[in-house]
Amino acid sequence: MPLALDHLRRALAERVRFYNELGIYDFYQREPRLSEVAEHASATDVALTPESESQLEVREEMSARKSAAVQTVAGESAFEILQPKPEYGVADPVAALKLIREDLGDCTRCKLHLQGRKQIVFGVGNPHAELMFVGEGPGADEDAQGEPFVGRAGQLLNNMIKAMGIRREDIYIANIVKCRPPGNRTPERDECETCSPFLMRQIAAIKPKVVVALGAVSAKNLLAINAPMSELRGRWYDFKPAGVRSNDPSWPGARLAVTYHPAFLLRDPRQKGEAWKDLQMVMKYLGLEPPKKPADEVPAK
Ligand code: SF4
Repeated sequence: MPLALDHLRRALAERVRFYNELGIYDFYQREPRLSEVAEHASATDVALTPESESQLEVREEMSARKSAAVQTVAGESAFEILQPKPEYGVADPVAALKLIREDLGDCTRCKLHLQGRKQIVFGVGNPHAELMFVGEGPGADEDAQGEPFVGRAGQLLNNMIKAMGIRREDIYIANIVKCRPPGNRTPERDECETCSPFLMRQIAAIKPKVVVALGAVSAKNLLAINAPMSELRGRWYDFKPAGVRSNDPSWPGARLAVTYHPAFLLRDPRQKGEAWKDLQMVMKYLGLEPPKKPADEVPAK
């Protein structure tokens, strides 16, 4: 995607997020402007009336930028996510998630579908969960089993969950992208932007109290901010999934916390204590008590 168009699209997504925060979710594609009609007319040798020509001059003076560029962006996925979705109006999260999964289908929307994925890893857990963990993308084990966080990093995540006094089946776990990036590389921006609207819809359907972003890729995509982990961690964010609306208008959105990805903790176990601080912040908010006998792996002090 050309840089200018990419920039325009991001700016548009930011504006949409702003409107969402104001409670505005429905957008409609406007009729083409006269300038576009004129472009089309000149391209097809259709004569303009004097009246339409003078209107056209006024329009062009008011808008220095070619509106055709906006029309191009309107066709991109940034606008696709604003259209009504099959799960809107479905109160039951189980049914809503099923509709989202059906809508995803055998997805070929981004290039990851061509890069060796065995299957789509949609997400797993309790559709009524108060707590969601969101990672980056499936690895080899997840790709093979069709479930997020089942490899070594998954084992550590299970221990983290256990240390919080809850069970894996009580929460919901998903990733920013649902197909394995080859060689476990970091998912690229276009892949995240194409896939994450489905995650946003999952979050809006589940309506958790807390979302925990595991790692910088997850945090940056959920929050649409670019900052190092040292700045992202240790605080709460008010979070509403971008570009979608919940079937429950009374849902105020979730609180979002950022912590280290378990795969990073496997590489640098010294950071487990820091991760435990993040989880304790979440536990305090949710009123969770750690079990009497702490889990083996986390906390590490
Ligand atoms: S990563 Fe997401 S958008 Fe890309 S092919 Fe897989 S499911 Fe589709």
